[in-house]
Amino acid sequence: MINIPKGTKDVLPSQSHLWQFVEETARKTAELFSFKEIRTPVFEHTELFLRGVGDTTDIVTKEMYTFLDKGNRSITLKPEGTAGVARSFIENGMAGGVLPAKMYYLIPAFRYERPQAGRLREFHQFGVELYGASGAQADAEVIILADIFLKKLGLKQVKLQINSIGCKECRAAYHAALKEYFRPHLEEMCPDCNARFEKNPMRIIDCKDERCRKITAGAPRILDYLCPDCASHFDEVKTLLTEAGIAYEINPSIVRGLDYYSRTVFEFVTSAAGAQGTVCGGGRYDSLLEQMGEKSVPAVGFAAGMERLLMVMEAENAPMPPMSAPTCYFAGMDAPSRQKAFSLATELRKAGISCEVDLMNRSIKAQFKYADKVGANYVAVIGGNELLEGAAQVKNMKDSTSEKVKFEELAQYLFKD
Ligand code: ATP
Ligand code: MG
Repeated sequence: MINIPKGTKDVLPSQSHLWQFVEETARKTAELFSFKEIRTPVFEHTELFLRGVGDTTDIVTKEMYTFLDKGNRSITLKPEGTAGVARSFIENGMAGGVLPAKMYYLIPAFRYERPQAGRLREFHQFGVELYGASGAQADAEVIILADIFLKKLGLKQVKLQINSIGCKECRAAYHAALKEYFRPHLEEMCPDCNARFEKNPMRIIDCKDERCRKITAGAPRILDYLCPDCASHFDEVKTLLTEAGIAYEINPSIVRGLDYYSRTVFEFVTSAAGAQGTVCGGGRYDSLLEQMGEKSVPAVGFAAGMERLLMVMEAENAPMPPMSAPTCYFAGMDAPSRQKAFSLATELRKAGISCEVDLMNRSIKAQFKYADKVGANYVAVIGGNELLEGAAQVKNMKDSTSEKVKFEELAQYLFKD
């Protein structure tokens, strides 16, 4: 017996309708804001992520699924969606097209992590990317999109936390202040943070290690180092959210794990479903294209983890859609009536009515039992008499009433349901 790889999950037929509901809700919400879907490959050249995600990030240093293909190219399964969309934006000359470019994606993503509840090696994301607009309205638009999406899923306990991590200029002063603060503590801190100290001290704020967290609690805060432009951008985002009726908290410890963020960063968090409480994370990344060697184009976006959303929906007891059920089950008694049941089912399916018919040569009693199990709304029984009359005995499974319905009137009868 070969088992499923560690950190991956099957979505079984009994669960897939819940996934489809979340995906549908994502698509509908994105399209409310005129975002269009973009599909990029599951794998890319490794170099794209080294540059596009950043070589000091956890993703790049520890988590990528990288391998050589048969042509000796280094290939990586995408660990997130933003880098691939950025590549496509550049490669397809979208900067010269209609701006803002608003795109969304629903993707599998791959990270070699220690699997636990809400943390998988293959997981799925819904994300949006908005290119070309540098103003605070763009930040607010994607945050509002995320908020509407989460509310449509019925989530009530998810909270929005925002922060600004400034631009290169404000960060230079902030990095210097952080280094001064952390230098005397380096020996007590984890090896990762010691490496971050040199390369990207702000990343220390993101460390999950208990020892580091204690020290980080007293560290200088980026909000005190924002330049006037970044400060007024942040103020404007806050005003727009307030006007939109969206509650938020300011959390100065959100710095986001990726190198490309600037100014606004945000997370939607909850404690409803255990330790992995961040269901959605995003922010502005005006320097991403520059980091990839291109002319810069301002951008903002987010990604939400589908598995975590489903966990939180369950934990919050959010209303879940029912699994779809056939409208009508056609039950036949003997060989000729079974044949009629089969052909009627085909006819009604062609007319757009979902039907089932016995494929197991079961007794009439067992057919009823099956129809009940799959939740059929009606069972149309056909036997010798019905064949002669040209009508089926249609039982309404909800109220147990029965009616004779002529074969040629079945479609109309079932459509009213
Ligand atoms: P975390 O701090 O939990 O590791 P992250 O900052 O690495 O999250 P992002 O790169 O921002 O996560 O990804 C966006 C979202 O994707 C997360 O908020 C989360 O909902 C989801 N996500 C990230 N990594 C995983 C994973 N390994 N398994 C399941 N979902 C994940
Ligand atoms: Mg992570």
